[in-house]
Parts: sequence; C-alpha cells; structure tokens
Amino acid sequence: MRMPVVWSERHRLHEPGGEVWVGVRTPGTELPERAERIRAELADARFVEAQEQADDAVLAVHDRALFDYLARAWSDWEASALTEDPGQDRVVPYLFPHPGLFTGFEPVAPAAVSARAGQFAYDTMTLIGPGTWEAARAAVDSAVTAADLVLGGEPAAYACCRPPGHHATRTCFGGSCYLNNAAAAAARMSSGVEGPVAVIDVDAHHGNGTQAIFYEDPRVLVGSVHVDPGAGWFPHFLGFAAETGGGAGAGANRNVALAPGTGDGPWLEAVAELADWARSGGAEALVVALGVDAAGGDPESPLEVTPAAFRAAGRTLGELRLPTVLVQEGGYDLGTIGPLVRETLSGVEEGLGQTTS
Ligand SMILES: [Zn+2]
Repeated sequence: MRMPVVWSERHRLHEPGGEVWVGVRTPGTELPERAERIRAELADARFVEAQEQADDAVLAVHDRALFDYLARAWSDWEASALTEDPGQDRVVPYLFPHPGLFTGFEPVAPAAVSARAGQFAYDTMTLIGPGTWEAARAAVDSAVTAADLVLGGEPAAYACCRPPGHHATRTCFGGSCYLNNAAAAAARMSSGVEGPVAVIDVDAHHGNGTQAIFYEDPRVLVGSVHVDPGAGWFPHFLGFAAETGGGAGAGANRNVALAPGTGDGPWLEAVAELADWARSGGAEALVVALGVDAAGGDPESPLEVTPAAFRAAGRTLGELRLPTVLVQEGGYDLGTIGPLVRETLSGVEEGLGQTTS
C-alpha cells in the first residue's frame, strides 16, 4: 500500500464496557481489538502518528455544548459517585428531554449529573468511560491528520481510528459514536479546496450524523448507501431517500437504502450511483466513511457484500481521481475487518492509478 495510515494509540483508552440495549447491558461489538486487527493487517503500510488538533477541528462540526459535556462527562460522573451508588461504571442516560416535553421553551441544564447524559445522548448504547473523551479526540485527530496529508499532496490517506463517528450530529451523540471524525475531515478538506467536498458513506448503517451536520450546507455533498431503516434497522428514523438536503443544501444529500440480504450487485450499483452523483455535483475532494459492516457475516448488519466487492467499490471511488481521505467507521467481525479494509484501500489505489502490492 502506498497511502499513509494515520494511527493513534489513544484509541485504546476507550473501552465502552458493552452497551445498554433495550435496558440490558450487553457485551457490545465496538471493541479496541477492531483497530488492532486492522493495524496488524496493514503492518507493511506507512504509519503516521495522528497530530493533536486544536479544539477548532471539533468545533467546526459540533456545538460547544456537546464538546463541553463530553469533555467532562466521565469526571463529573465519577465525582458524583454514581460509580458507587447505584454502581454504574459507565455514563448511561436515564431521562431524555424529548421535544414533546417543552411547549415553546428550551430545557434548562439539569443540576443532577445523572440527568445530564440524556441531554446529549440519543440512545442508551453509547457509554462513556474513563478514556472515552481522549480516544474520541484522538479519532478526530486521526481523521483531520489524514485530511492534512491529502491537502499536503498525498493522493489518498486512511485514518485507522475508533470510536467511529458517523452517527454523531452537531449537538448529540449515539450509535457508538461521540465525535464525527469523517465530518471533521470533510470540514478540513473544505477549507483547502474551492468547490464542494463529497462524503460517501459505505458503512452498512445510515450516516445520520454526517447528514445532519451538513444538511443545509451546499459545500459538502453527503451520500450514504446502507441497509433500509424502514426494514427495521438502526438508525430507524433516518436514512430514507426523501432526505435530500434543506435550505441552501437542497439537493446536496443522497440516501440509497437497500433491503436486508442485498449482495454485491445492487450494493456496487449504489456506490457507483453515489460516485456519479458526487462527480456531477462538481466534488473536488472525497471523504469516504469506510465502514465494512456491509460484509456478509458481520454481526451488526444483514447486508451480504463480499471482499471482492469492497475492492471493486474502492476502485469506483478511486476512479473519481479526487484527493481522497478514508476514515474508519464500523465493521465488527474481528476475523475479517482487516482484510476488508485492505481490499477497499487497494481498490482505491487501483482506481487512482497507483501501483499496489
Ligand atoms: Zn455501521
């Protein structure tokens, strides 16, 4: 592989400790081992240490209130002794200030630490522990460092990061995501090119966070191919074809939802459709939200894509011949996550016309 792989050891600081799903603590699948498996597979690549970024890299795509909450969430939780009574070793929300509670006024910031999480978390699955903030910052550092490498002349760069980011919106977090790494990379790329930046999200789940962040922004085209939320899949409420952007960003968002069980043919057609759409939209740079959980056998999705199709998808995206940043999102089968990423990156290099090993 020719492209640099951006890496930070700090990802290991985030050990989610499982997730609370339908009220039950389950083991969860967003594990530190995921990134380690990818790193082992790419051992012969050129690794670059993630550069620590100023807060602005995060604040380009997130509200200050979410930033401040996440920065203190664990220390506040620990200081309030919720770790001892009732004995919860991770930050878990219990009350959500649903819009239906408020008739024309804004919720106050709650005094109780136990009530704060629900103001920023939209699910109960995305737990915060001692190193979550540091690791989430490191993931943004990785994605933005990859963007800087590409702005500096690398044809492509890959951020091997976790926790993932594409479900985090400007104001709230969920779906195992805290800060939106791909969005931060897109914002950085946007500062370096004249025309629009395309984000193409091939993760098996809709990139609702990235969609929300750029929904009214014509300078970032956001396309996502994913399993149909209407067939009962996360994020359930978003990811439909009718979501095409709003305001000045009308037409700058595109969703292609696929039925459970969909395999290579229609999935690759969807990737090609999004690539054509980005091209015709005048994209001058590309950010790929690279989840590999659409693969057959992944425990988190019912899509049935093969490794060969990931390589072909990479080729299609590379053939756009744009400065390309790839940011790791999902992928939860530890046995195949590394090879799937390698296939995709190799395909991108083939598409870009670079020699590959
Ligand atoms: Zn996913």
